[in-house]
Amino acid sequence: MLMNMKELLSVANKNFFAVPAFNIQIGVLLKTVIDCCEELRAPVILELAPVELDFITDSFVAQCLAAAHFAHVPVVVHFDHGTTRENILRAIRAGFTSVMIDASHYSFEENIRITKDIVEIAHPLGISVEGEIGTIGTAANSLEKGTDEISYTDPDDAYRFVRETGVDTLAIGIGTAHGLYPKGFVPRLKLDILTEIKNKVGIPLVLHGGSGNPDDEIAESVKRGVNKINISSDMKDAFFQHLRKDLAADTKMLEPSVVFPGSMNAAREVINHKIKLFNDADKAKYYQL
Ligand SMILES: [Zn+2]
Repeated sequence: MLMNMKELLSVANKNFFAVPAFNIQIGVLLKTVIDCCEELRAPVILELAPVELDFITDSFVAQCLAAAHFAHVPVVVHFDHGTTRENILRAIRAGFTSVMIDASHYSFEENIRITKDIVEIAHPLGISVEGEIGTIGTAANSLEKGTDEISYTDPDDAYRFVRETGVDTLAIGIGTAHGLYPKGFVPRLKLDILTEIKNKVGIPLVLHGGSGNPDDEIAESVKRGVNKINISSDMKDAFFQHLRKDLAADTKMLEPSVVFPGSMNAAREVINHKIKLFNDADKAKYYQL
């Protein structure tokens, strides 16, 4: 069932779980994610960032929307890391039920102005808006934008930002980075800042770039009020590691229905693990489907 982010995450906020947002980008990963979520009765967010949408084009959004309508679990189709009024308008026309405007690299005042403008466009159409303050780092292999320096979100800034922009959800910087972390690097989340932000703003918080963070920290962040966690690198890494092996083992394979199932199963393991880690399994029961 298709819905917007506000509808989806108000339930998660009340019941202390987080919904995974998967950057699916291709049909095979879309099917893998939907299959897992139906099996585990888990609400889910399908998301595409601007570079991903440029690659697969708007017709894939229609495919995601159709998958959402057919699914027996709540589904949001979300535009990840929108950067301009133009690409947000394109996303709205394509049918996304939620959009992110990431103006976090501008000054705080400019971020408020840009984000508020998008909220004024999206809300009358029933489309939810995610904003971001503080920055999320960038590790290797990530298409997503970020900075080398992670800056932590100030709780007072978060309060003012939410009040003045009217965003439905807020992405915060508490020490995560996009992409896969270098081997041996163990990031540490500042969970005390997370609690302070949640107490001030109350709305669902979003974690980007949590692929390499220890499971216990992620589980704790969910308990403290994170309700959406973006997952991209972990899932794709499992998928492509397996695909490389399968293709090398049998160089004659050419039917997609033969080539992909092994890799889909490898991705499924990651997806299932994240759903359980985020306490998202079986939460479809809280929604009227
Ligand atoms: Zn992100």
